[in-house]
Amino acid sequence: MSVTRAYDTLRDTVSGPVRRRESLARHTTYRIGGPATLYVECDTLSDVARTIETLAEERIEWVVLGKGSNVLVADGGYDGAVIVLGRDFKRHGVDGETLRAGAGVILAAALRDTYSRGLTGLEFAAGIPGTVGGALAMNAGSRDEWIGSRVETITLWVPGAGLTVVHGHEVEWGYRESDIAQRGLALECTLRLAEDDVERVRRTIDTRLRMRRTSQPVGTANAGSVFKNPPGDSAARLIEACGLKGMRKGGAEVSRVHSNFIVNTGGATAADVLGLVEDVREAVMGRYGVRLEPEIRLLGTG
Ligand SMILES: Cc1cc2nc3c(=O)[nH]c(=O)nc-3n(C[C@H](O)[C@H](O)[C@H](O)COP(=O)(O)OP(=O)(O)OC[C@H]3O[C@@H](n4cnc5c(N)ncnc54)[C@H](O)[C@@H]3O)c2cc1C
Repeated sequence: MSVTRAYDTLRDTVSGPVRRRESLARHTTYRIGGPATLYVECDTLSDVARTIETLAEERIEWVVLGKGSNVLVADGGYDGAVIVLGRDFKRHGVDGETLRAGAGVILAAALRDTYSRGLTGLEFAAGIPGTVGGALAMNAGSRDEWIGSRVETITLWVPGAGLTVVHGHEVEWGYRESDIAQRGLALECTLRLAEDDVERVRRTIDTRLRMRRTSQPVGTANAGSVFKNPPGDSAARLIEACGLKGMRKGGAEVSRVHSNFIVNTGGATAADVLGLVEDVREAVMGRYGVRLEPEIRLLGTG
């Protein structure tokens, strides 16, 4: 493996920025984490093809990052390439009741555009600070709605196979997970929406945003819910019942506003967050016999 060779090749051929030892704290909502060996922003399809090919030739592991709103990057960083989708993947358009959106589109932008045309179906995305690609990989949503139920098609870049279209029903959608990232790099999708009354859709969105403002630690650095809800229960309820609100480790704190959020109060390390994650899991297991499964994804080691 030669990082230098990959860097030189990509810098010469990819239209977006290519950097070495890029701090990933800058690319996540947690504002935590060490550097990625390589950082590549792909503005075009040929950038994606070239990047994946070069990384394969040099045997460099890679991962795609959206807004980094569900990721905790290890303090030692990520020993591989982080791919971010740029220009051509940040476009979306509406045709009748279908939204076609690039994987780099911010969910809020797609939501604004669809609801203002009187389309319903994306309200679950109100207040989710990620991209369409991240939402597909995480099957993002609320308790009773998620993106997977709206997907008609996803266009992926599959290493070795190139552009591949999969239908929504072919994807394995689970609770806050899908098999999209294992299949490849999501580039674009079409979502099936439905006509509705603009005012009614707006009211639903406003209600959800208001609820978030009162129930979530708005304005802090975090990655949303740390744990998945166990079947039939709520992770936040269990954590709160264990008296863990406000518990701290270094700069990380179990939010006093929403106990399933661990916030970076400033200067938290990934080790602080992970330490708190373990303490919370132990406490909930000890008291309720429930094993909490993390919803946030860890990237890198050390
Ligand atoms: C304040 C706050 C509130 C939140 N509320 C919710 C909520 O209500 N519901 C909910 O579901 N989530 C919520 N989240 C979590 C998070 O916003 C979602 O999971 C979101 O969908 C992640 O999108 P992202 O672009 O940030 O993805 P990232 O965090 O960058 O990546 C997440 C995963 O997706 C993969 N990925 C990203 N893009 C692609 C792609 N193009 N192709 C293949 N794989 C890809 C990454 O490799 C990674 O494994 C919240 C987070 C915050 C900070």
